[in-house]
Amino acid sequence: AEQAQQFTFQAEVQRLLDLVIHSLYTDKEIFLRELVSNASDAIDRLRFEALTRSDLLPEGHEPRIRLIPDAEARTLTIEDDGIGMTRDEVVQNIGTIARSGTREALAQLKDKGDGAAQLIGQFGVGFYSSFMVADRVELVTRKAGTDEAVRWTSAGDGSFAVSDAERDRPGTSITLHLKPVDSENGIEDYTDRWVLGRIVKQHADFITYPIVLPGEKTEELADPAPEKPLNSMKPIWARPPSEVTAEEYADFYKQISHDWSEPLETIHTRVEGLVEYQAVLFIPSRGANDLYYAGFKPNLRLYVKRMLVRENSEELLPRWMRWVRGAVDSPDLPLNVSREMLQSDRHVRQIRRALTKKVIDTLKKLQENDRAKYEAFWRELGRAVKEGVDSDFENRDALLGLLLFGSSREAEALTSLAEYVGRMPEGQSDIWYLTGASREQIENSPALETFRDRGWEVLYLTDPVDELVVQSVTEFEGKKLRSAGKGAVELEGAEKKESSDEQKKEFEPFLQVLQTRLTTWVKEVRLSGRLTKSPAVLVVAEHDYSPQLERLMSMGRD
Ligand code: ADP
Ligand code: MG
Repeated sequence: AEQAQQFTFQAEVQRLLDLVIHSLYTDKEIFLRELVSNASDAIDRLRFEALTRSDLLPEGHEPRIRLIPDAEARTLTIEDDGIGMTRDEVVQNIGTIARSGTREALAQLKDKGDGAAQLIGQFGVGFYSSFMVADRVELVTRKAGTDEAVRWTSAGDGSFAVSDAERDRPGTSITLHLKPVDSENGIEDYTDRWVLGRIVKQHADFITYPIVLPGEKTEELADPAPEKPLNSMKPIWARPPSEVTAEEYADFYKQISHDWSEPLETIHTRVEGLVEYQAVLFIPSRGANDLYYAGFKPNLRLYVKRMLVRENSEELLPRWMRWVRGAVDSPDLPLNVSREMLQSDRHVRQIRRALTKKVIDTLKKLQENDRAKYEAFWRELGRAVKEGVDSDFENRDALLGLLLFGSSREAEALTSLAEYVGRMPEGQSDIWYLTGASREQIENSPALETFRDRGWEVLYLTDPVDELVVQSVTEFEGKKLRSAGKGAVELEGAEKKESSDEQKKEFEPFLQVLQTRLTTWVKEVRLSGRLTKSPAVLVVAEHDYSPQLERLMSMGRD
């Protein structure tokens, strides 16, 4: 037989493993949810591949996920009839971290102490969570459609070994060489059938394939009793919302999301009408690290009658909602769904419209009923909503209502446009904003002076994307959105005009000198009635780009 080939883990993976191994993360039993979720995903993928390659599925394929405890050897094996992996896939999937966001988060992370548990809670560690309960992990896998099996082993200490193996059918078995039971540190006896049953019930009941223990051999029965699933196998979206607990939603969320933090909001909807569908959607409490990368794929699963047809569906919600995670199941779609077909399908469009509205309504309710929670959402994902203002014309009005900005009213406080309008004093007819790199920078702007004097609130737009918002939105509830920093504001009211004429004559020669001196930098030097304390202010002409927009555009060029 061939010698085992040694590999070293990608640096980030080793870092993650060190975190996992040394962390005080208490909820260690969730390793089972992770491994069983992977097994379930692998069966989903096999069934999906088999749609176009029926040779991949043996006749009467009844996929199962088996838990095989061995109390004497102190091992637990998790076995599935899924798609399996080739040698290259094993090295790639289990030895590296593909997700750029996780990689970057890890690169930034220096803490190995108390913060570790919390950090683990932030990005799901998936397969690596097995090292929370095992000293050594062995994986044997055979890819469907191939004859060769491969064995992967590691003690999580920097390297792993890969060698040839035997497996009589496609699928994957993962054997954990368990750490000693240590209840103080949350390590139970994972060879105990009762413990395994409880964990499955608690953390993996929603898995739609049977999770089974081997039948128990008794003295009377020579044959083991038939395998009875530990889980109910009912997908979470098919159950009545009133019967699903928050923890069950959260476990399901963690299965599909790579995110171990709790979802901020859960939307569960079941519709039977012209088009039938069931959906469980989550608003996450944190935006994915790679949300603004071009290649970002949403965590949105599309099922047709419980059969997974797309793991990262981009057709069911608008692009700006790519942070929404969850699963949608509809019997009204054909199984062979190509991307083009999905995009043009009438039912998909109907579902998309309804789900989009549902998410927006949920945000609206959150804004009305739990402002603190809504602001938490806004600080994480408000930028994506602003993208929607610029791109989702059908929902733009609703989205305008969702916007929050800082303002001159109160440091730290955020205001909606409606709230701003509600506070407008008599005499103010427009909504005023000022863009800048930071609150501090804006507050130093002389352009604010006249607004301060009048007691008019000014919105502070400090996010580069805000420029896109004010470029595409010119009005809210009939009130114009206007830049306090642009052009000749008519705030230099008529009362100032006369003296201004006189002053003009007086300052004419001075302005002339300035104009010639500054000609390479400014378009025009003129007398202003808007300043009350500062001697001069730089402004941009009404239709020119603001400095912030120029900043934004040059960012795009880098
Ligand atoms: P995630 O499931 O979030 O992608 P994991 O760390 O849990 O991350 O798993 C990493 C990858 O390893 C999976 O995406 C999959 O490609 C592969 N994998 C893990 N377990 C299995 C399995 N039982 N069968 C086939 N592939 C698997
Ligand atoms: Mg996983």
